[in-house]
Amino acid sequence: MNLREKVTEKFRERFGYDPDYIVRAPGRVNLLGEHVDYNDGFVLPIAIDRATWLACSPSQTPQTTLVAVDLSEETLFTPETLSAKTDTAGRSLPSWALYPAGVMWALGETQLNTPALNGAYTSDVPQGSGLSSSASVEMAFAFAWQTLGGWFLPPMERALLGQKAENQYVGVNCGIMDQFASACGEENRLLLLDCRSLEWRTLPLPKNTAIVIADTTKRRTLTSGEYNSRRADCEEAVRLLKKFVPDIKSLRDVNLETFNQFASHLPEQVHKRARHVVEEIERTQLSIPFLENGHIQQFGRLLNECHDSLRNLYEVSISELDVMVQVAQSLPGCYGARLTGAGFGGCTVNLVSIEKVEDFANRLSAGYEAKTGLHPEIYICQASPGATLS
Ligand code: ADP
Ligand code: MG
Repeated sequence: MNLREKVTEKFRERFGYDPDYIVRAPGRVNLLGEHVDYNDGFVLPIAIDRATWLACSPSQTPQTTLVAVDLSEETLFTPETLSAKTDTAGRSLPSWALYPAGVMWALGETQLNTPALNGAYTSDVPQGSGLSSSASVEMAFAFAWQTLGGWFLPPMERALLGQKAENQYVGVNCGIMDQFASACGEENRLLLLDCRSLEWRTLPLPKNTAIVIADTTKRRTLTSGEYNSRRADCEEAVRLLKKFVPDIKSLRDVNLETFNQFASHLPEQVHKRARHVVEEIERTQLSIPFLENGHIQQFGRLLNECHDSLRNLYEVSISELDVMVQVAQSLPGCYGARLTGAGFGGCTVNLVSIEKVEDFANRLSAGYEAKTGLHPEIYICQASPGATLS
């Protein structure tokens, strides 16, 4: 049974009739541009062919009833209980319900019509692996309320409201990339987003190339301190470079040549962090002609360089991620491999020749398990469309 059938059946079981709509909203993986979103840089994600599937219909009462099929849980809320983050019985909303409720709240803040709905949802985006299961839930609900509410927003606007929900309602300080990719994904295309202007465009994924995601199964733990200290180092670099580059507002504003001229004035750790950011932004720019011309080998090399930089300069890798990347890079058909996401656990992303992909996946899994004793999850992915009715 596919997820569409599963969620339809669960909806029918719970509500006693067929859903009016099925919405699908994908997870995402970032190919290049890591730890540059908060430095006004560029990111290059795809929406993947793993998604949240939501079956829904307007409710006949003011109550929204949600069934989280994967958790076997249910909650009820109304526009009145939203601001207190409680259900209709006055209990705190469970944490999973904050994502859909937050979307309803953020849309309502913008005066968009959010009719009460009955909904059931399930997903094959793994939770907490860095493939953005949370944004896929948010974008599924934003699309559902758009459909039921009879309004239309461009996908980037829906993404921004999803981010607002996650920042202000759920309380997670995420950037815009996750919701952006889930809302704006396109089949067989990479998405190039300028995190400063929010302008974006798509680039072709070279033919005969597969994207393979490999989950180390190591979960990130207690990393907010590490994240915050790196953000602070980037801000410190900007402050110190202002003496030499008065117009600088973020590390986006120095190219590599200028950076090299003044980098010796930075303390060692600040220098390393800032160098990663400046070079990573440069790599995203270099990738554009490579992708436009189908130069997959050169593009893959940028991924390898990115991993080295995240390991040696930004220092966000762990041994399991390094092992997964080293094994991948030694296998036939692999153009490039690197850790993806914030680091300290989670997944790697690999660019692999289509003809070799099955063999690659098997050997990567076996090689990683032999070296770590851990059994990884391997997902062979397609670049997929963003949130839609299905
Ligand atoms: P990720 O990197 O996968 O986005 P997050 O911690 O940001 O990790 O989000 C995971 C949270 O999103 C889950 O703990 C849960 O609250 C919510 N979520 C994700 N997928 C589902 C799902 N299928 N059903 C219910 N809630 C989900
Ligand atoms: Mg998330």
